[in-house]
Amino acid sequence: MVNIAPISTRFAPSPTGCLHLGHAFAAWTAHDRARAAGGRFLLRMEDIDQTRCRPAFEAGIIEDLTWLGITWDGPVRRQSEHFADYRSALDRLTELGVIYPCFCTRAEIAAEVAASPGAPQGPAGPLYPGTCRGLDAGQRAFRLAEGRDHALRLDIGKALALVGRPLSWHDEKAGEQPARPEILGDVVLARKETPTSYHLAVTVDDALQGITLVTRAIDLFPATHVHRLLQALLGLPVPAYAHHGLVIGEDGIRLAKRDKALTLAAMRATGQTPLELRRRLGLPAC
Ligand code: GLU
Repeated sequence: MVNIAPISTRFAPSPTGCLHLGHAFAAWTAHDRARAAGGRFLLRMEDIDQTRCRPAFEAGIIEDLTWLGITWDGPVRRQSEHFADYRSALDRLTELGVIYPCFCTRAEIAAEVAASPGAPQGPAGPLYPGTCRGLDAGQRAFRLAEGRDHALRLDIGKALALVGRPLSWHDEKAGEQPARPEILGDVVLARKETPTSYHLAVTVDDALQGITLVTRAIDLFPATHVHRLLQALLGLPVPAYAHHGLVIGEDGIRLAKRDKALTLAAMRATGQTPLELRRRLGLPAC
């Protein structure tokens, strides 16, 4: 008999503001997929940036999701409670020799990019020019001994060479995707004040939580290339992906946390119902 494991999906908001209609769409998408298949739906707070995350926003998220009629399985996973998991992953990447300390400030990177007109561009702007990748062991040791602040970056070239085979991942809409993590350059995997990064934490957590289908907005499509590389380096399972469209406001621009009128709390306060929101988002009544 074929054993078809039930799917596991998740909604992974950052508690840095109030949820809006776009988040409702993302949450319902993941929730409905899991529930329709008798699978698991998990909730994860992506609160690694402790300077921007607030307990009040997390409480607001719980309240909003409850109002929407969304229930999740098991306890909420808070990334801020799992820095040790990301540290282990960083240690493994260090052992593999695919990360390096980067001492550049943002201003230094901007100046270097401005001075080199042909600098490579990524989907969201110029890529890190690789300045600190070229430091030799002595220069690195000297700066570290001086106690200089640094980030840890993934050396994409070395990482791809180490993996040594083409990688791919499956997106439900776009089909089989050859992984091209180089489009994002040498991404940051940890900073002094935040000892992990979105890319690292999300990849580790999706594996630890047994997520089999990652549903998330299309603006994170480029990030999936990097996540696929991290999965290969860390020996993690590869989930399927379904990147969905962004919810656009009446002004034709994607919604953002700063759009106060379209927060779920504001909609609730003006008497709108979850069913009306589902209709507006083109989701079937449940
Ligand atoms: N925390 C991310 C966000 O709020 C979502 C991460 C993901 O789904 O991979 O946009």
